[in-house]
Amino acid sequence: MAAGMDLTDLHCHSTASDGTSRPVEVVRIAKGIGLRAIALTDHDTLAGIEEAAAEARALDIEFIPGCEISLDGVPGTFHMVGLGVDPANAHLRERLDFVRQGREGRNAEICEKLNRLGHRVTMEEVAAEAGGDVIGRPHFARVLVKRGVVREMKEAFDRFLGKGKAAYADRERLPLPEALAAINGAGGAAVLAHPYTVGFPDDAAWEKWLREMAAAGLDGIETVYTEHSAADEARFRGLAKRCGLLESGGSDYHGENKKNTAVGTGKGGLRVPYALWEALRHRARSRKRGPRP
Ligand code: AMP
Ligand code: FE
Ligand code: FE
Ligand code: ZN
Repeated sequence: MAAGMDLTDLHCHSTASDGTSRPVEVVRIAKGIGLRAIALTDHDTLAGIEEAAAEARALDIEFIPGCEISLDGVPGTFHMVGLGVDPANAHLRERLDFVRQGREGRNAEICEKLNRLGHRVTMEEVAAEAGGDVIGRPHFARVLVKRGVVREMKEAFDRFLGKGKAAYADRERLPLPEALAAINGAGGAAVLAHPYTVGFPDDAAWEKWLREMAAAGLDGIETVYTEHSAADEARFRGLAKRCGLLESGGSDYHGENKKNTAVGTGKGGLRVPYALWEALRHRARSRKRGPRP
């Protein structure tokens, strides 16, 4: 890794949700490639935080507790990352519990649909595949691969699990103001994840929406992201500037569940300056000291 510049990764998953590396492993990889700080942002859970934080203390690397929450209300996919949240915050924990409960009925529905399609999948084996706090579609996908129903996870999403496909089921999501309040209230910075998936038709629509989001408590958007082209990055950087938002960045590491995406470096060229985290942290801390103007 390039010397002389402090780097971080502000978006990573572990076995606590739908990644395949243990929380300790994510921290070890980050330390091994020389990052100054590493965030763990599992979907809908803080279950990996304690383990990761302990390893980070032992290895002397800064650890950033986080989570990722799925929302709706945009044309495409809308995820929000919370960074620097207090993992003991009761309100955030309660809201994440609620979201995880919402997965249960939905997972049963996916299971039933797969069985009706003739694929004898049980919730027990999907839960065993997940092994952590959160069962999600990637775990169904892995079971389907193991069964030989599909060759690879992507095919499982394309044929069965993707939005609108044969075994798709939706789940209850937090309303946007609740997600922002939960993250901000736990002292965290709220960041729009992978904006390339959000799907607004043009910059005018983007700008209108981002200004509303900024007023509601959004702190930043991921400009530096594994799947962003240089053009995407520049576009979202411009939008962030115009809308008073900070930048964030991360790999969205999922281990074997997202092949060819590494901690810190993404597909190889990703570099997330530590300074992005400093600015986000500063904004989140300023909010804690007093009400917003
Ligand atoms: P869930 O949270 O259970 O709705 O599952 C969503 C997760 O599935 C995302 O966070 C990704 O990790 C993964 N995912 C979504 N779409 C795909 C896809 N087309 N191929 C592989 N993984 C996907
Ligand atoms: Fe995921
Ligand atoms: Fe996401
Ligand atoms: Zn993610």
